[in-house]
Amino acid sequence: MNSIDSTPPIQSAAALSSFLKTAHGYDLNRDAPPVDVDRIAELLGICVSEEPRHDAEHAITVGKITLEKDQPARVWINPAENAYGPRRRFTLAHEIGHFCMHRSTNQTTFVDTKATMNRRESFWNRFESEANNFAAELLMPGALITSAGRGIIDQFKADNDAEMMPITVFVQQMASRFKVSNLAMEYRIKNMGIKGQQATDISTT
Ligand SMILES: [Zn+2]
Repeated sequence: MNSIDSTPPIQSAAALSSFLKTAHGYDLNRDAPPVDVDRIAELLGICVSEEPRHDAEHAITVGKITLEKDQPARVWINPAENAYGPRRRFTLAHEIGHFCMHRSTNQTTFVDTKATMNRRESFWNRFESEANNFAAELLMPGALITSAGRGIIDQFKADNDAEMMPITVFVQQMASRFKVSNLAMEYRIKNMGIKGQQATDISTT
C-alpha cells in the first residue's frame, strides 16, 4: 500500500477528479452516477476497514481516518452507523475529503460523529465543513447533476405529459440515481442555484 506521502495534496473534488485522470487514467464520471467511491479510495491507497467495534470509544463514531507519516491512510467505517448505503458512501467520501485536504495539517486523526457530518453543526469547524463540502461535490459533481438532471426532467415530462416536474419528485429520483440521501441531494442542488418549487430547467444561472 502507498504511504500517505505518495499522493500530492488535493484541495477540491474537482482537483481529485483531474488527479485521478492524469495519475491513474481513471475518469470518475465515466460510469457515473453513481460515483464509485470505493474505487476512488482504492486508487488513493486508502485502507478501508468495517470491522464491528464494541468499545465505548467507538460507540458514537460514524467514521474515522488516521493519517500517519510513512503509513497508508486508514479509514474505519462503523458498520452499525452506516447500514444505510447512501450514508456509508457519504462517510467514505467525507474521509476521502480529509485525506485529500488535511494531510498537511498537524492533525493525524479525524474522528467523525453525527455532529461532524451534520452541515449545521459542523458549520464553524473548518476541517469538518470542508470535508462535508468535498464529499457532496465528489458524490454529486456539477456536470453530472446537470446531465443526469436534464434526462430525468425530460423523461418525467414525456411520461406524464407535463410541463414541469415537482422539485420533491426530482430530488427523490436524483438521489436514487446518485445513491445519496434525499437531504444531501436537496442541499446540493440548492447550493448549485437550482431553486423554486418546480424543476422545469436545470440551468444554473
Ligand atoms: Zn470529518
